[in-house]
Amino acid sequence: MPDLPFDPAHCLIAGRWVPPLSGETLALTNPSDGTEICHIASGGTADIDAAVAAAHDARASEWGRMSALERGRILTRLGVLVLEHVERLAVLEAMDVGKPLTQARADAVALARYMEFYGGAADKITGETIPYLDGYTVYTLREPHGVTGHIVPWNYPMQIIGRSVGAALAMGNACVLKPAEEACLTALAFGDLAMQAGLPPGALNIVPGLGAQAGAALAGHPGIQHVSFTGSVRTGALVQAAAAANVVPVTLELGGKSPQLVFDDADLDRALPFLVNAGIQNAGQTCSASSRILVQRGVYDGVRDLMAERYRALTVGPAMDDLNLGPLISARQKHIVEGFLQRGRDLKVVARGQIIGEAPAGGHYVAPILLADVPADHLLAREEVFGPVQVLIPFEDEAEAVKIANSTVYGLVASVWSADGGRQMRLARALRAGQVFVNNYGAGGGVELPFGGVGKSGHGREKGFEALYGFSALKTVAAWHG
Ligand code: NAD
Repeated sequence: MPDLPFDPAHCLIAGRWVPPLSGETLALTNPSDGTEICHIASGGTADIDAAVAAAHDARASEWGRMSALERGRILTRLGVLVLEHVERLAVLEAMDVGKPLTQARADAVALARYMEFYGGAADKITGETIPYLDGYTVYTLREPHGVTGHIVPWNYPMQIIGRSVGAALAMGNACVLKPAEEACLTALAFGDLAMQAGLPPGALNIVPGLGAQAGAALAGHPGIQHVSFTGSVRTGALVQAAAAANVVPVTLELGGKSPQLVFDDADLDRALPFLVNAGIQNAGQTCSASSRILVQRGVYDGVRDLMAERYRALTVGPAMDDLNLGPLISARQKHIVEGFLQRGRDLKVVARGQIIGEAPAGGHYVAPILLADVPADHLLAREEVFGPVQVLIPFEDEAEAVKIANSTVYGLVASVWSADGGRQMRLARALRAGQVFVNNYGAGGGVELPFGGVGKSGHGREKGFEALYGFSALKTVAAWHG
């Protein structure tokens, strides 16, 4: 493990690294070989209490009084520091999450980009003046909620911290971050860099720990004024219920079963890498993974065969080998994915990738799998697997494609592959999703592009300027002056 300038078994509270008040720690393991990396803090209620108190202190002192310009400068400095430490962050993420090094590096660069974007945006958020009755001047102010809670999963720690903590800090909130117990080293490293960038003590507090302990304590804390959660539907509902007791807003980003719709007139050469990569990136453990490929009959066989060819060339191995796929995060996640595959054993397997022979036995490897002719109502066509599994579903026409695409409880991302401009526009409206891509998928990550779901994919938007509205409250000032 790279040298860390902090003790990974500590929490960051009020600008200081402190041992958890709970006195508990958790072992962090490397998904590539199952070995122990180090111990992290297992924070409890008292640690969350201390972190929330430190955040309130920050709001009442230097951080709360700081101009938007200065906040932006600190975030911009933090972005520069992240860029200077991309390699170290990438190695930490690769070890911790099992993510191939190239993907981990891209995530570190994205974290820097979030800081640049929100650093630049901090002083660009304005209110408006509203024409009103004679004798009045009315205007609006965008104000931070106060103290915000951020509960982050293990699959993209850097990107999710970037989009949620970055936007919250830009608006002047003070944050309490609870990273996932499976992977939290880059969260801690980010906290260290934030201190180096000059973020005042208490503006960002980090308490690692178990979901049922630190996570639940944060979600239901009466001192929190907004909760941002990314993770499973089940936990998201618990977080929303906990926050409801304090009547505070929540942003939920809960994953999906995102479809790509390939029509007969699609540019298949362009589409092909997107069709496969959007399914296997991070071994399919991506909220916006495209796990359903809907293909019109005329090109169905051709798309299936071309995708199969790519699948057979995919290799799986340790994160540091930097192959197409790394391991899954944990034995538990592997068990979940294998359970899905077991329930899909009636389905037609078109192709699988290869786990390299030297992959350590203790790693949680699953060879990516492409399944064809999957009925739209099959479990594997409806449920989020969160593993490297893609299903091919044929369709006859536009109406059927939309019906199938919109037939799950989720609605995060969708894409349309077609040369027909009218169809592109019709489907962009008809598809039930928070983001629709036309002749692409994911738009390269899109720090600038509002992101979030409908249905059981969640609610609220992160990324882009939209996140800044979510991390603030609008105040209307009506002044009568005669
Ligand atoms: P999870 O939703 O349980 O965990 C996500 C975060 O929530 C973690 O930080 C966890 O500690 C915290 N948490 C857990 N219980 C909590 C509680 N009661 N109150 C507050 N916080 C709590 O997800 P998981 O167990 O890591 O994974 C299970 C499934 O969730 C996966 O198989 C996958 O389908 C889905 N998932 C989705 C995403 C996504 O990006 N949408 C990310 C991770 C997992």
